[in-house]
Amino acid sequence: MSPTPSALGTQPRHGTRQVRIGGVTMGGGAPVVVQSMTNTDTADVQSTTKQISELARAGSELVRITVNTREAAAAVPRIRDRLAMMGVSVPLIGDFHYNGHQLLADEPGCAEALAKYRINPGNVGFGKKKDLQFASMIETALRWDKPVRIGVNWGSLDQSLAQALMDENAARAEPWDAGAVMREALVRSAVDSAAKAMDIGLPAERIVLSAKVSGVQELIAVYRELARRSDCALHLGLTEAGMGSKGMVASAAALAVLLQEGIGDTIRISLTPEPGASRTQEVIVAQELLQTMGLRAFTPMVTACPGCGRTTSSFFQELAQTVQEHVRARMPTWRISHPGAESLTLAVMGCVVNGPGESKHANIGISLPGTGEAPAAPVFIDGSKAMTLRGEHIAREFVQIIDDYVERRFGRSDAA
Ligand code: SF4
Repeated sequence: MSPTPSALGTQPRHGTRQVRIGGVTMGGGAPVVVQSMTNTDTADVQSTTKQISELARAGSELVRITVNTREAAAAVPRIRDRLAMMGVSVPLIGDFHYNGHQLLADEPGCAEALAKYRINPGNVGFGKKKDLQFASMIETALRWDKPVRIGVNWGSLDQSLAQALMDENAARAEPWDAGAVMREALVRSAVDSAAKAMDIGLPAERIVLSAKVSGVQELIAVYRELARRSDCALHLGLTEAGMGSKGMVASAAALAVLLQEGIGDTIRISLTPEPGASRTQEVIVAQELLQTMGLRAFTPMVTACPGCGRTTSSFFQELAQTVQEHVRARMPTWRISHPGAESLTLAVMGCVVNGPGESKHANIGISLPGTGEAPAAPVFIDGSKAMTLRGEHIAREFVQIIDDYVERRFGRSDAA
């Protein structure tokens, strides 16, 4: 498969087929799509609608929901309708395991309301029923004109396929190690299932593949192979990435390598939220990963120095946080009223050592006084010193400078 130029980044993307999911285009060189998944009970229409709207507002371009019971399936069209009333049009993806064929057949409203079905070939049935139930889900996708994701997972690998590959391996003169057999089973499960779906009549332009594992090196190896053997659009994600910084670092380490190689058309960061934390964190991490790699822009980026012995107060950390929170909170509005604001670069620096230099590289930068420096904070706009802030209201004034700049540079002249 030959790489094609990227729509936004400088890295070539692998030449995958383009898939339409609701109003979202994925693959074929389109910008990498951010997606997320709810953790509410889908049968609870109110909670699920609320969380989907939060994820969409944070910038999730697709949202996946669990569809595991008849009640959950019946709730899907009601959730879609409530979202529409709220002005939220994010495409919904149904996540099915074990009984998806039944739920999709029994709840046509669910089959119609979803923009894509996720099918796990390892959890679609056993023995003779497996192929029939898989075929039933593909036929439903054809009936409703929907794409599917064939989503293989290390934790629920098709056991009959894994056993067959282990037997095949045992007969080799030089058997592979167990990890290589497992990786082959993951790739084979995805690619063979896609071939089955195409035999039933689903075009490759309606198939997305994934093969998730929880180890960084394994994930990279599996997806390199998947990209080599298939031209279907690829969904990237490190499964069960974990909590907090561990989950973010592991996901970023694995996904960055693959994205840099042009592999991956949509990403999900599978973070375990800390108790009480917002589910939207996984969206923010996905966006920041793509933005820091230069593949997409979502929210103005704030460059801040780490601080050191020259910054004895926490003021500059507080200012960096205030600025970050402010631009993130404004972005849902700016996205519509001030397109392009997402590409803004900001710098909040702690002293004169690197402060003016770094601030000049940003659209707007502020160099706060370090220990022993005069209590003045020069502000740089597009590389030139524009003013100096002093006193107790530096944070408020700096935020106002940002808002004025966004209005001046990105405000739509046709806005009433
Ligand atoms: S810019 Fe100044 S305060 Fe910030 S890390 Fe460098 S030396 Fe320390």
